[in-house]
Amino acid sequence: MFRTLHSRLLLSYMAVIAISLLGMAAIISLILYNRALPVRQAYQRLSYVAAGVIARQQFGSPAPPDEQLDRLFDQVQSLADSQKIRGLVVERPDNVVLFDSAHQLPPGRPAAVEMRVTNPRNANGLIEGIILDGDDTWLFVAVQMPVAGRQLSIILEVPRPRMGILGAFEVMGENLMIPVLEAGCIGSVMAVLLAAWVARSVARPLQRMAEAATSVAKGDFSQEVPVSGPSEVRSVATAFNRMTAQVKRARQAQQDFLANISHELRTPLTSIRGFSQAIMDGTANTPELAAHVAGIIHEEAGRLSRMVDELLDLARIESGQMTMERERLDLGGIIRAVAERFSIRAHEAGISLEVTVEPLPTVIGDGDRLAQVLTNLIDNAIKYTPSGGTISVCAAPDGDGVKITVSDTGEGIPEEELPRLFERFYRVDKSRSRRDRGGVGLGLAISREIVIAHGGTIGAENVPGAGARFTVWLPAA
Ligand code: ADP
Repeated sequence: MFRTLHSRLLLSYMAVIAISLLGMAAIISLILYNRALPVRQAYQRLSYVAAGVIARQQFGSPAPPDEQLDRLFDQVQSLADSQKIRGLVVERPDNVVLFDSAHQLPPGRPAAVEMRVTNPRNANGLIEGIILDGDDTWLFVAVQMPVAGRQLSIILEVPRPRMGILGAFEVMGENLMIPVLEAGCIGSVMAVLLAAWVARSVARPLQRMAEAATSVAKGDFSQEVPVSGPSEVRSVATAFNRMTAQVKRARQAQQDFLANISHELRTPLTSIRGFSQAIMDGTANTPELAAHVAGIIHEEAGRLSRMVDELLDLARIESGQMTMERERLDLGGIIRAVAERFSIRAHEAGISLEVTVEPLPTVIGDGDRLAQVLTNLIDNAIKYTPSGGTISVCAAPDGDGVKITVSDTGEGIPEEELPRLFERFYRVDKSRSRRDRGGVGLGLAISREIVIAHGGTIGAENVPGAGARFTVWLPAA
């Protein structure tokens, strides 16, 4: 029922509106309940009763002085009974109680209540005020008059009236129901519009993303969703686009990987089959021929086994199974030793190999693995540099680490290939027509893993007018 964002938003907005309006109504009722609306009427009523007392005192038939007080008390009592009020007669100035129609205050003692005059002379010329008697509040009207030669106050009081919760609701319903309903209607219309707007701005891009994700799942990686809507949705869209790009790349790499691995396997296997066939059917019938053929088979098998070793190496490094030593290394010594090993090969290829090593800070790591990286870089440089070229290996401190560069004067690397150079099986020359140059495109991938495991970086660039330059940076101890 409330599955869509739109309906949920609408529901929550409506709930908020309803709760606010109900809360508001409750607060107003409470205010009304506590507000003494009929106070004025109560004073009015007391004033009329008081006027009656005065009139009886002034115009009633005169009584003997010893009966005057009793008669006053009787009058107050009957008025109190008939008007449902309370009447007190006190003697000034100390407010000594002479009579209490409710028979609660003991006669002969000062009235132990707090009396506050709020209006010393109201429209009827009487005193108005309130009495605070513990928790109770009373409204009173007082008349001062001499009776039988004594200065008396006649105090008429009623409990302060309250509107009562029902009364409050009634007033609320009569006066406020319509505005509250109106506010509710306006709020609801706004809630509908707002919910539609918010839902649209959130749901639309999400829906597009869902469609794009479905297409990606079906194998269409060209999907890119527009980045729009609130910032949260925008960041999802950006992440989505980044993810599809990444998936596309990964898929491409996987396809290349498969194509490459089958190609790399097929070539040596084909030649192994062909040449072993030659031995089997007696084509290689002389001992020299047989030895030559066996030599080729041996070479191809060696190639296969190197490939398997490299793949295993890579898999082990990538999965973190290969443990790297952590020794203090003399990197300069390692570089010189590796270069030394290549000196004969370089000489044979007519390439001059120059090594420049500045005093270097100590690097902590696995010497054999780092030697493997250098071996791969120099090996590549020799493979891709024509006779008469130069390879220079330089090592120098750089920042808080060591920078090693291997530059050659070979063919260089096409700019567009640079970003993918370190991927597994990636080879610039995919035709493998230069099979004699050996590699299967795993060397740089392995090198990168080793360098990363040492906390370093590796990169490749072209030297304008010359060949390729590989740079390895390793942090110093
Ligand atoms: P391989 O075993 O094929 O040498 P690598 O991973 O070591 O594999 O290198 C990947 C590709 O990078 C090579 O096939 C080659 O095309 C290119 N490459 C590497 N080093 C150089 C270089 N010094 N000059 C030109 N191309 C290079």
